[in-house]
Order: sequence, then C-alpha cells, then structure tokens
Amino acid sequence: MGVTHKAGMLRSLSAGALLLALTLLVISALVLNVTLTSLSDSRKLVERTNAIARQMAELQASLREAEAGQRGFVLTGEPRYLRPYESAVRRIPMQFDRLRALVMYPVQIERLNALWPLIDAKLAELAQTVALRSRSFDEALAVIRTDEGQRMMEEIDVIIESFQQTQRDLLEIRAAEEQRRATWTTGIAAGTGFMSLLCALLSVFFLIEQRGRERLVASEERFRQLAENIQEVFWIWDPHFSRFLYVNPAFERVWGRPREAVYEDIGKWFAPIHPEDRARVEGHYFSLTNVSDFDDMFIIRRDDGTTRRIRNRGWPVDAGARDVRYLVGVAQDITEIHNAQQALLKLNEDLEEKVEERTTRLKEVNLELDAFAYTISHDLRAPLRAMHGYADAIMEDYAEALPEDGRFYAQRIVAVARHMDGLIEDLLTYSRLSREEITSRPVSLEVVVDEIIVALAPHIEQTGATVEVLRPLPEVKAHISTLRQIIDNLLSNAIKFVSRGVNPRVRLWAQRNGERIRLFVEDNGIGIEPEHLGRIFNAFERLHGIEAYPGTGIGLAIVRKGVERMCGTCGVSSVPGKGSCFWIELPAARNGNGNGNGA
Ligand code: ADP
Repeated sequence: MGVTHKAGMLRSLSAGALLLALTLLVISALVLNVTLTSLSDSRKLVERTNAIARQMAELQASLREAEAGQRGFVLTGEPRYLRPYESAVRRIPMQFDRLRALVMYPVQIERLNALWPLIDAKLAELAQTVALRSRSFDEALAVIRTDEGQRMMEEIDVIIESFQQTQRDLLEIRAAEEQRRATWTTGIAAGTGFMSLLCALLSVFFLIEQRGRERLVASEERFRQLAENIQEVFWIWDPHFSRFLYVNPAFERVWGRPREAVYEDIGKWFAPIHPEDRARVEGHYFSLTNVSDFDDMFIIRRDDGTTRRIRNRGWPVDAGARDVRYLVGVAQDITEIHNAQQALLKLNEDLEEKVEERTTRLKEVNLELDAFAYTISHDLRAPLRAMHGYADAIMEDYAEALPEDGRFYAQRIVAVARHMDGLIEDLLTYSRLSREEITSRPVSLEVVVDEIIVALAPHIEQTGATVEVLRPLPEVKAHISTLRQIIDNLLSNAIKFVSRGVNPRVRLWAQRNGERIRLFVEDNGIGIEPEHLGRIFNAFERLHGIEAYPGTGIGLAIVRKGVERMCGTCGVSSVPGKGSCFWIELPAARNGNGNGNGA
C-alpha cells in the first residue's frame, strides 16, 4: 500500500514541477518583454544623445567655416573665399533646426534658445563685413577691429561648450542606465530559464521515479496473486532475526492453523513437526553460518489429530543488503502422492507376484503340453509303423495279385506313412528341444558343417549341387547336436528350394560381430516374397505344396527354437527368383579366436 501511495505522490510532484516550469517560462517571457522594451528605449535615448552632440559639433564647425571664409575674403578681397562662407551660412539655420527638433532636455532647450540670437547676430556681423569689404577694405577692417564679432563667437563657444558638456554627462548617465538594463535583462532571462529547466528536470525525475514505483506495484501485485493462490505453502524466513517474513494462506490449509500466529510465534510452524524430524528441520532454519539449499521431508501432526507428510524445499536469496540472505521455500503436502506411491508400490509387488505365479504356471502348462505332444507323437508311431509294415507286406507278398489301382493305393499308403513318420520325428525333435536341458560348449563350426556335408553327400550328388565353404570357420558356444540339426535343416532347404532344372549353388561363411558369430547359408534358389519372411520360422508355415517341395514345415521352427535355446538369434534376407540368405548368430567361443570370413 505504501508503494502505491508513494507512486501517486510522485505523479502529483511530477505534474506540479512541470506546471511550475511552464509558469516560470510564461513569467520569464513577460518580464523579458518588458525589460527588452525598456532596454530598447534606453538604447534609443543614448543614440539620440550622441546624435545631438554630433549635430552641435557640426553646427560649431559650420560657424567656424563661415567666420574663416569671411576673414579670408576681408583680407584678400578674393571672391573664392566667399564660397565656403556662403555654403556655411546656408547650412547653419538647417543644422540649428535639426538640433531643435532633437533636443528635449529642458536645460538644453534653454541653451538653444539663448544660442540662436547670438548665432543670428554673428551671421549678421559676418554679412555686414562681407558687404563692407565689397566697397572698402578699411571699412570692413574697422568693423572687425571692434572685436564685436570675436566676442559673439566666444559667447557662442561658451554656450556650445556647456551644451556639449551636458550632452556628455547625459550620455554617461544614459549609457550606464542602458548597461544596467542589459545586465538585468540577461540576468532575468538566465535566472528564469535556469529555474524552468530545473523544474522540467525535476518533473522528468519524478516521472521516472513514479514509473519505477508503478512497476514495483505491478510486480508486487503479481507476486501476491501467485503466492496467495498456489496450493503449496510458500514462506520467507529471516535467519538473522529467526522469524518468518511471509507465509502464504496455503499454510492454514496444510498446517490447520491461522498463519498470522506464525509471525508472532514461530513455534506454530515447528511444534507440530514429528519429534524425530524436528531437530533436523530446525537445523535448516537456525543455522546462521550455513544458509544453504535443502530438500527435506517430514511429518506434522495437526491440532485435529490428523497427520500430513510434507516435502519442504528451501534456498537462500539475496535480501538486497550486503551479507544479508533470506531463506525462501515451498512446503508441499505430499500425503496423497505418498499414499498413492505406496499403493502403487504394493500393486507392483502384487503384480510381480502374480506375473511370477502365472509364468511358473505357463511354464508348467507348456511342459505339460510338450510332454503331451511327445507322448502323442510317440504313441502314434507304433500304429503308424504297423500300418507302414502291413502296406509294405501287401506290396511284397501280394503285389502280383493286386490290380493296378490296388498297387497304387498300397504305394500311397507307404508314402503317406513315411511322410507322417517324418512329421512325427520332427515334432518329437521340436518338443525335445523345449523340454531337454541344453548346455552350450565351444564347438567348431567348421567340423559341424563338414559332418553335415558328408551326411548330405548322396543328396548333393543326386541334385548336382555345389556347396562352397569360405574357410576357416570359427568356434561358437553351442549344443552340438542342436547345432547339427539347425545347419542340416538350413543346408537341406538351400539345396531343396531351387527351380526345376537349376543346379543348387550354396555358399557358407561366417562373420564375427563383437562377441558373436554369424553363420550365413546363401543359395541361388527360388527366394521368398518379402511379405512371407516374417512367418516362415513358425511351425507348419509352408509356402509351397508337398508335391512341388516335400517337407513337414517344422524345419525352420526347429532352427529358431534351437538358436534361442543357445542364446542366439536367426533371420533371413531374400530376393524372389534370385535366392535367399539365411543366418544364425551365436555367442563366440573365445575372444579373438575364430576367424570368420570378413570378421
Ligand atoms: P519345410 O522345408 O519342411 O517345408 P521349413 O520349416 O524348413 O519347412 O521351411 C518352411 C518354408 O519356408 C518352406 O516350406 C519354404 O516355403 C520356405 N523356405 C525355407 N527355406 C527356404 C529356402 N532356402 N528358399 C526358399 N524358401 C525356403
């Protein structure tokens, strides 16, 4: 409130100073106008005084000129001396009239009044002598010798001298007056100008101060709005006087006590804190030497008996003055969050327990299923073998007696029984892979690959296939019989899935990838459409009919299950019509041992 009041006062002061500056300017203009007029009058007076003195001096000079002309003529009788005389005589009345028009000072007017009869008489005397000289030199000389003319001239000079003296005195007084007025005018102009500039500067200063105050008011208002509306308890602590400077209204909701009480008694803040936490919390507030950031958690017991869990964070801020720092902070009621976290933790624990239970159950069911499949497969084998045996017996013993159709059916029974036996064999292998304990040991890929090639030699020969191995092949960590099964499946497929009339060309090589070895089996076969690549590793997924490419559809499922059980992975890339490249990746047997191609 104080800041708002001050801002209003500053606004009034600024306006007042501006008004004063304007008033001073107006007054200054008026006074200057008056003083400048009076200065101008005074200047005119000085000029007139000067002009009168000049005029009088010219009149005196004309009188001298007239007298000199008269003397010259009287002495020489030469008419050329009359020209200056006559010119001076013509000028003198005009000069005197001009003087009369200029002079206003009473004493000087009186002097002029006394001067003119003398000048007039003098001019008459001069005219008389000139006229006499035209007749006779002696008569004219006689008049001059009377000294009457000389006396008149002296009288005239005396009056002119006193006239000029008075003019000089007047000039001195008037010039001094003019100087005084000029000084005054300058002083007034400078004084009022300076004062109004000062007032204008003051006005600007007050205006800037007022703007600053207004900004402070706005920022205080924003702070108040924020602090009073947030849900968290916002506080400011003065560690030097161990007191709260500010606590926002949220305190009443969280602590359940009126916040005003905290200003008088800081115990209202600290007393409800759980005894186990209190000393630690107080340590943050009462340490003068170590006012530092903290992020703390404590429990309070409210007057109504309920407890709340509080997260209290504080950090020091500069209080403006040197060496003085306040602590500001936020205390957040995290009871609900904490309870929710606890519930979530409990839920997670329950969930983990349940997942574990279900996984165990699932494993058991899987094992049961595998056992079931194994038993079924096993049990199916006996009747199948009997069926196979009987069909063989019929073919051997009664082939002659049977008609053509009978022989064909008996042959189909043998073929189907063989296929079914293969299927059961593969199923047994697959379910064995799931159930049996598998232990990996270092195995030489090269040895296994060679064994398979030897085993498949008749088939290779029969199909006219070429199998190229890029040696040496490294050692991997694997279960040897499973690895054998996998490579056998991949190599058999590579030889099998070629277009009719094409000789299969298979290439095998390995590549080290850090701690892992990748074995590639590449063929020039029919390839696989991209949309089927994702499913061919599933059991019973076949892309072709048994007539075109015989098989059970379990070979690649065995590959995947086998590598997974040996902690490996598998995959394929393929270009339809050009060939496929299957790969398996297994852990390397030893660091650096193994020499995979391209490794
Ligand atoms: P099977 O070979 O007994 O048919 P697999 O599980 O080994 O079964 O293979 C599944 C299917 O994947 C095959 O039927 C075939 O369509 C496709 N396939 C497997 N290997 C290749 C290959 N090298 N080239 C093209 N297709 C292949």
